[in-house]
Amino acid sequence: SIKGQYGKYFAAYDDQLRGKLLREQAIIDNMESALAQGQFQVYLQPKYRIRDSRLAGAEALVRWAHPEWGLQSPAEFIPLFERNGFITKLDRFVWDRSCSFLRKWDDAGLPSIPVSVNVSRADIYQADIAEILLGTVRKYGLAPARLHLEITESAYTEDPNQIIETAGRLRELGFVIEMDDFGSGYSSLNMLNRLPIDVLKLDMRFIQSETAKPVDQGILRFIMDLARWMELHVVAEGVETREQLERLREIDCDYVQGYYFVRPVPSEEFEKLLREEGTVAEQEPGAKRRRP
Ligand code: C2E
Ligand code: MG
Ligand code: MG
Ligand code: MG
Repeated sequence: SIKGQYGKYFAAYDDQLRGKLLREQAIIDNMESALAQGQFQVYLQPKYRIRDSRLAGAEALVRWAHPEWGLQSPAEFIPLFERNGFITKLDRFVWDRSCSFLRKWDDAGLPSIPVSVNVSRADIYQADIAEILLGTVRKYGLAPARLHLEITESAYTEDPNQIIETAGRLRELGFVIEMDDFGSGYSSLNMLNRLPIDVLKLDMRFIQSETAKPVDQGILRFIMDLARWMELHVVAEGVETREQLERLREIDCDYVQGYYFVRPVPSEEFEKLLREEGTVAEQEPGAKRRRP
């Protein structure tokens, strides 16, 4: 019978599904207390300007340091929090921490870079998102332009009118708007023109494609030309090799981020990089760390 033939397969599938559901339930049961107990940490990944090799900013990326599970990657828990709504609470925490870092660095006389935070699609639908973001930068005495807001491309295509309104309002308030994962979805080129954005953040797949065929480089070049016409800056993320960096330099891309330079690090470690940056004029171009 079919059951006899496939029974084992179904049983294994059931176990796998049950395991996944139990794991998800454990995450949900733990999330509130984790936030209250300070288990969520904000890591920072440096962003470099290609033209002059300067440290030009950072992306804030959340990590969950669970006492038993260890350091958890957002790839698992973020999609879950997007479904159950906890992401709006977690993101507010990340924005607050990010601004507190900026305040601390400013007070220490370090270079005043911006920090890019991820804004989930769920945040966009919160009626008070502008008040929250404005309240956060004001709490730390920062100009809104110090926060760059990364909104993923698929959020734009899902509900263009909502994004145009909300991102437009945030941009008018002075926040810098970045389209994250650009090219991963289906934003049409004529829509791009209507969107209130300042920065295109290229999806990693553009530069991580196994074979760098001439046509791939042609597409990158086309995106850069388009960005120039629309007066948008371009950030390439996921740069892992020297060859990838060379390809980006060739097309005159503005900023880079990736494991080739520095992985996301705890804020204290990032602060060290920022301190070195502050004294860069007095040093010989450093061999200490890879620079674009
Ligand atoms: P994302 O916003 O596109 O962030 C870039 C991801 O690429 C990060 O993964 C980063 O660690 C990783 N990455 C950086 N350089 C390289 C590289 O050279 N090679 C490769 N293969 N990967 C690189 P991460 O930290 O695991 O975050 C995954 C995603 O989770 C993020 O993608 C973002 O969508 C989401 N996320 C992370 N933190 C937050 C947050 O605080 N709030 C929200 N709403 N989403 C977040
Ligand atoms: Mg991002
Ligand atoms: Mg993102
Ligand atoms: Mg991205």
